[in-house]
Amino acid sequence: MSSKTLFLFEDLYDYMKAASLRESDILCRLREETLRDPMHMMQISPEQGQFMSLLIKILAAERAVEIGVYTGYSSLCVAMAMPNQGKLMACDMSEEWTSVARRYWKEAGVSSKIDLYLAPAIQTLDGLLARREERGAYDFAFVDADKENYDGYYERCLELLRPGGLMAIDNVFWGGNVANPEISDRETNAIRTLNEKIRMDARVDPSMIPIGDGLMLVRKR
Ligand code: SAM
Ligand code: CA
Repeated sequence: MSSKTLFLFEDLYDYMKAASLRESDILCRLREETLRDPMHMMQISPEQGQFMSLLIKILAAERAVEIGVYTGYSSLCVAMAMPNQGKLMACDMSEEWTSVARRYWKEAGVSSKIDLYLAPAIQTLDGLLARREERGAYDFAFVDADKENYDGYYERCLELLRPGGLMAIDNVFWGGNVANPEISDRETNAIRTLNEKIRMDARVDPSMIPIGDGLMLVRKR
């Protein structure tokens, strides 16, 4: 987990941010507030947030799903980049963390674009998939919750996406652990297994992006 892009020389990372970041005041304040939480490394980096906003705009995404909200940084980036009629299904289990997210969604004027589901995300996704009209109706999915369920999230999000829709799967480097054969805990194994599966998966066009802690982009065919 990391709230910065890993594996870049510090000077170059500072340059990249200075030369390209356009973090809005509200995103900046949310990042600063989240820094006070001991789990703040779970938040995506600002450059990843900006990249995801760009993806949303390129896709002209109107329907999106996010698995793992935390204090809301990524959801705010996605929702602010969507048009007024856009809708983001935001999945988490923490009332406490998402109460921070809700405060910022309200301040940013995007609350009406976000439906928050507080339940295990597999259950929420199965609930969505049970409604026929939801299948193949989504433009974008962001997967960033418990790593052991990543394959379950991948399969379900793939069903929700329309052909040409995009899934972004976070932390696919897992701090570099995926590349260390001596590490084989459950989370590392789950991410490694999914990375390998995606490489061979004929249903998608994949690309692994070295931003943040590694972001796997997957376009549904
Ligand atoms: N995307 C967020 C951001 O950029 O700020 C960070 C998400 S954080 C890495 C992971 C979140 O997943 C936590 O808020 C946690 O409560 C949630 N979570 C963990 N297990 C979950 C599950 N089984 N179902 C739903 N949410 C879960
Ligand atoms: Ca993450």
